[in-house]
Amino acid sequence: MGFLKKLFEKKDCEICGGEIGLLGNTKLADGDMCKDCKAKLSPLFRVEKETMVSDIVQQIAYREENKKALEDFHPDEEFGNSEKLFVDTAAKKFAFAANGDWQETESDILDFSQVTRVETDIEEYTDSTSESHDEDEEYDSTAENETVDVPVSNFHVVLHVDSPYFDTIFIFLSDGDDPSDIGDDSQIAKYRKYEQQMNRIRELFGA
Ligand SMILES: [Zn+2]
Repeated sequence: MGFLKKLFEKKDCEICGGEIGLLGNTKLADGDMCKDCKAKLSPLFRVEKETMVSDIVQQIAYREENKKALEDFHPDEEFGNSEKLFVDTAAKKFAFAANGDWQETESDILDFSQVTRVETDIEEYTDSTSESHDEDEEYDSTAENETVDVPVSNFHVVLHVDSPYFDTIFIFLSDGDDPSDIGDDSQIAKYRKYEQQMNRIRELFGA
């Protein structure tokens, strides 16, 4: 009885005072947070065991300020394929959106001066594609359903940033579009494109 009563006990959000639904609770170190409040937080922020109610209150205030910063953000350069980094070169501001849409995401608008370090890497891995063969071909166990190993490259960037809410932004520039530098012309053109994006990011953030 006591257990059931506790299970269905309604909790109040420590931040907005609203009632928390059955599955909508996020535990903080010193209280509970509802999903409406959670939705207001930075997409780059993760709740940790030690996150306090006061941290969330402070961050929600910052996120309100960020809404104004979004209105003044006019990116003139963008990088990436599905995940995207947007840069307003005149204002020296930038934003990252995992879904490629900084407005919908309400991305955090950051200043170039907040970037403390830039890491870039091209990681080569093998992508296996199977090739089917004609059935009337002479039987050869090694040739049947042969898989062709193509080396492809994943271009990624890590921005280390000075922010109270998160410290790194991972950008997989070629996500879902990893090119091969030994492929045909379109693959090579794609490889060069991501290579140039990477160089430009290093140039912009002075790393
Ligand atoms: Zn709330």
